[in-house]
Amino acid sequence: MGVRRGRVIPRRCPNEGGALEHVNVPAVRRIVDPEELCQRHQPCACDPPRPETEPASEPMSKTPSDPQPAQAARAAGAAETGSTTGSPLPGPNTLSVHGGDTRARAHQAIPMPIIQTATYAFADTADLVNFMQQRSIGANVEGREDYGRYGNPTVQSVERKVAALEHADDAVLFSSGMAAITTLLLASLPSGAHVVMTDDCYRRTRQFCLVFLKRLGIETTVVPMGDYAALEAAIQPRKTRFIISESPTNPYLRCVDLKVLAEIASRHRVQTIIDSTFGTPLNQRPLKYGIDYVTHSATKYMGGHHDLLAGVVVGSKSRVAALRDARGVLGGIVDPQNAYLLERGLKTLGLRIRQQNETALAVARHLEKHPRIERVWYPGLPSHPDHEVARRQMSGFGGVVSFEVRGALDEASRFIDAMEIPYIAPSLGGVDSLIEQPALMSYFEKTTEERLELGIKDNLVRFAIGIEDAADIIADLDQALAA
Ligand code: PLP
Repeated sequence: MGVRRGRVIPRRCPNEGGALEHVNVPAVRRIVDPEELCQRHQPCACDPPRPETEPASEPMSKTPSDPQPAQAARAAGAAETGSTTGSPLPGPNTLSVHGGDTRARAHQAIPMPIIQTATYAFADTADLVNFMQQRSIGANVEGREDYGRYGNPTVQSVERKVAALEHADDAVLFSSGMAAITTLLLASLPSGAHVVMTDDCYRRTRQFCLVFLKRLGIETTVVPMGDYAALEAAIQPRKTRFIISESPTNPYLRCVDLKVLAEIASRHRVQTIIDSTFGTPLNQRPLKYGIDYVTHSATKYMGGHHDLLAGVVVGSKSRVAALRDARGVLGGIVDPQNAYLLERGLKTLGLRIRQQNETALAVARHLEKHPRIERVWYPGLPSHPDHEVARRQMSGFGGVVSFEVRGALDEASRFIDAMEIPYIAPSLGGVDSLIEQPALMSYFEKTTEERLELGIKDNLVRFAIGIEDAADIIADLDQALAA
């Protein structure tokens, strides 16, 4: 992460050559001269800045017990919505705006410009040969690329911000959430491997594992969410490579106990992946519990405006570097225009998440008391099966509320049609509220019986709350339920 309150943190001594990356802080609004910085900073600007990220565990050598006290305190401080008074850490809004930002910009632009190029030129053959030599010995050539599939400065800027938000070593961006998860799995799993997955997972991830990976000789066992004995029993010695789970899940907002999951994985030397799309990097940070990889569909909360597709994987430097190489082969890099939109969206992540957390909780509580509602699914409610787990590992419960309207398919449809504020659409996490009936959206082709087998009731509604005022949303719900 690149922000420390009230100070400029030089990353590299300008006297040693190389570009100075000065890290922005809200209190310092001018660009500081590198020489001046070096003189002011005692004993020398080449002191390594205090790392904001914990060194992640090496592959297969996890220590997934309690978070380290310092790390936990730091994460908790930064994750709290509102101020971080008393903590040396930046708050969620400062982190959203400035996290990971080097302020190294062409033409002193404030936003990172869109570097719209598919390829990069070399000054002459010597420049080309120097670049190739540096890269072949593994030297840091960050900021210098040869071809757009391998990297782009606008994309890298977002990667640094996401890593800062997740308190991770590094992040790698993809063209969609599915590109992120499929690249991670394809790049990591040999033929003959096995994965364990919790149910109530995004259906395309499930489909990828059960259909596509199967064709490559990779088997998947799906276990019920919350059944940790079944999960542990499903692990096959020397075959199981990954445990994959979402938290919270879609549409029932089930929450896996991240600490327990990491402990089981560690016992069996298996790696863990959490799709934290519904969690957001501000409401939960799975890495601090010992999770190895965190993925997001950045299409949702991170982008936040229903106008882009993107995905991300965060983790340790070495793991992310391997995935960046895999992305160069599989080709799923995000376009620079979308990366720009994503960075713009991320700057308001703190504000949006606070609003969505608050409104969703108010909506969930209101609906739970409503006579026309049979059941509400929201991890912030004590009635949710994973409320205690969510309370332990989340600082906010997110903007999605699922609920069952009394009656069958048609009653739920009539209610949805009477709602005026939300759009009827799939997806979630944006500024506009979206509402959908999973039976008619994601599970349309299934019969009622098949849907029930998958746990999807016909009268279930998923409400992805935007940033509209809570009072207006509640009034809209009331009028639609009375219609
Ligand atoms: N993960 C979750 C939890 C999702 O809800 C989705 C999409 O809805 C994805 C992954 C896939 O993301 P994308 O649509 O960006 O490919």
